[in-house]
Amino acid sequence: MARKKGKSAIQLAKQLAKKDKSIRFCRRCNKLLPIDQFSPSETRLLCREHLRESVRLYRRVNKAKRAIDNIRIRCWVDKKIFGQTASALSCQDIRDMMTADQLNEFSKYSIVPKDPTQQISRSNAQLIMAKCRQYLISCWKVTRDLAQYQHILQLPQFQF
Ligand SMILES: [Zn+2]
Repeated sequence: MARKKGKSAIQLAKQLAKKDKSIRFCRRCNKLLPIDQFSPSETRLLCREHLRESVRLYRRVNKAKRAIDNIRIRCWVDKKIFGQTASALSCQDIRDMMTADQLNEFSKYSIVPKDPTQQISRSNAQLIMAKCRQYLISCWKVTRDLAQYQHILQLPQFQF
């Protein structure tokens, strides 16, 4: 019977693994491996190596997500101070604006609008040192002076 080669090979491997308990199928290696290359749990469909790899990937993705959420929350708090009702800055925008190293140390950074009278967006956003943010926001609260706000944003302490 003519079947698609790839699919039937995997099915065959899985069938073999069911009969022979000394081997098991890793769906990432895409082949049968000796059982000692798997963690003892019956349910694992990945060999130890690929299990470790997927845990590492999961942690990395989770960490980046936490960093972006944290930055977004601060933007959201600021948005109310600036009197904006909406934000056009997406998670992807934040990801694009920051390097992996910066995301790793996300608490050191903030994203603020270049022009706080307009909603924050990719083109109306600047990455600054988090320690400068409070000063910038405080000045805005007191003065509502756009020229001064933008002058402060250009100060060397805000750059990196
Ligand atoms: Zn594997």
